[in-house]
Parts: sequence; structure tokens; C-alpha cells
Amino acid sequence: MANVKVAVRVRPLNARESADGGKLAVQVDDKLVRIRNVKLDGRSEGAVDSREKLLEFCFDYCYWSVESADPHYASQEEVFQDLGVSVLAGASEGYNVCLFAYGQTGSGKTYTMMGTPESIGLTPRICQGLFCPEDSFSDGQNSSRVEISFLEIYNERVRDLLRGEQKKRTSLRVREHPEKGPYVEDLSQHMVTDCKQAIDLLEEGIANRMTAATHNHDTSSRSHAIFTIQYTQAILENNLPSETVSKINLVDLAGSERADPQYCRDRLTEGSNINKSLVTLGIVISALGK
Ligand code: ADP
Ligand code: MG
Repeated sequence: MANVKVAVRVRPLNARESADGGKLAVQVDDKLVRIRNVKLDGRSEGAVDSREKLLEFCFDYCYWSVESADPHYASQEEVFQDLGVSVLAGASEGYNVCLFAYGQTGSGKTYTMMGTPESIGLTPRICQGLFCPEDSFSDGQNSSRVEISFLEIYNERVRDLLRGEQKKRTSLRVREHPEKGPYVEDLSQHMVTDCKQAIDLLEEGIANRMTAATHNHDTSSRSHAIFTIQYTQAILENNLPSETVSKINLVDLAGSERADPQYCRDRLTEGSNINKSLVTLGIVISALGK
């Protein structure tokens, strides 16, 4: 199995885009995605302009198709069945797994990772999968332990999203443990014993996220949010009791768009920190891919 898998999800046009007569610039053909580099001068109607470039990308999963006049947009459940289930499987085998959503503001990252109350996303579904008794994953045995932490990185600072108002730590340090690897010092960890407790923590953290208005999205998140599930399983190693620890990192990244120079200084500082961290992330992913 490949170490890194990439999925692309296309969201439906929103009310404003439909009202403006917006057209999709993307075509999906099985796992191949074609993006027309449409000129933004309203000349993209009908025949393809010879100056338009057709860009092609290949993905492990593509969530969209136009089999008829009625395009099919993948449901939260479909996305979970492909991506969430393999996250759970990896963790049960003792691997650390990471799943993140990358894209510009408004593209559907938070919808995919967190979802809405009517249509929950990957993170709450993965929490349900962890505790679901009929699922072979948990075996219904009490030989595992689940701890949750939730942080956000805003302007290069790490904040704990699960601390009470008073004690809220605004600038935690990232350190490296000789055996366990990188960790965030003093980040709170919360033991949970059922799915509801896990989802309550998720909701508490989301409410604490720092948001600010940008021109294309009212409550755009300008921070990266990392929801970590530490899953510890009791095992027998050479007939001696031992433990395997798997970490599941579920990440809702900040928008990948370029900072617009018309923004105020705060927005620009945010933007340049976001871009810096996303460029670094790209370097890490290509190293893992190799
Ligand atoms: P981002 O986190 O990338 O800035 P959001 O997840 O907040 O974007 O999505 C922007 C808007 O589009 C939200 O109102 C969200 O509910 C809606 N949306 C995103 N993806 C979908 C989808 N696949 N189906 C229906 N609505 C979606
Ligand atoms: Mg978002």
C-alpha cells in the first residue's frame, strides 16, 4: 500500500456562484482530473479558447463525476468509507496516520474534515468508528485507551483548543522526544471512553478556533487545526504484556490562497505564515512520496 494517498473532492456551486452563472472549470474522468485554466474575463463560454491550458492531475480517489446532466457529488459517508476506514485500519495495525484537507478558503476543507451538524465529516465519523461496538475495529474489548488533544497553529503559534478559558495557553512549544518524536509541551490530553465524549471535545475545540473574515469567506479559518487521537492497544509481546501506541492526526489546514495585498497588515502576516507552513508541508509530502 502506498504511504501517501491523495483524494480530490469537488464541492457543488454555492448559491452565490450559481446566481453569478458560475461554471465548473474542472472535469473528472475516473481518477484523472482536468482543470481548464479559465481566463477570468468572462470569455470562457462555449468553445475552448486556444490560450486556455488544460492541466491534468491523477489522484487515488476523485469525488465527483458527471455521468448525466446531474453531477454526482460524493457524500460524507462515501468519503469516510474510502479515507476514514483506512485511517482506522492503519491505527488498529499500530501505525501513525495523518489525514488532512488542503485547498483554498471556501473549497470545503472544514466541511470534509469536520462537517456540519446535519452532515458530519471525517473526524466525528472516525471517532464513531473507534468506539462502534459492531465494528471489527474495536472488537468490543476493553484492551484499548483513547486520548484526545486538539490544537491550532495560528501565526506560527500553537494554542491548545481544549483548555478552559482562564488557563488558555497561547504559545506552546514544539519539542522533540528522543524516542517518541515531536510533541507539543503542556498540550492537554483528554481520556475518552465513548464516542460522545470525543465529539464533545471536537465541538469544544472548534468553538475555540480563531476565525476572521476574509473577502471570499465570512468565517474563514486562518489557522491550521490538528485533532489528535492517541490510540493505545494492549498487546502481548513474547508472552509479556506490552502496548502499541498509534496517533491519528486529523488536520484542517488554513486556506492555501495567496494573501491579497489589499488586506490589512494582520491578514498579510497571517497569509505569509500560512504560505510558509504550506510550502514546508509540500516539501515533507514529496519527501514521503519518494
Ligand atoms: P473551507 O474550510 O475550505 O474554507 P468550508 O468547508 O467552510 O470551506 O466550505 C465552504 C462552504 O461550502 C460551507 O458553507 C460548506 O458547508 C459548503 N460545502 C463545502 N463542501 C461541500 C460539499 N461537498 N457539499 C455541500 N456543501 C459543501
Ligand atoms: Mg475552513
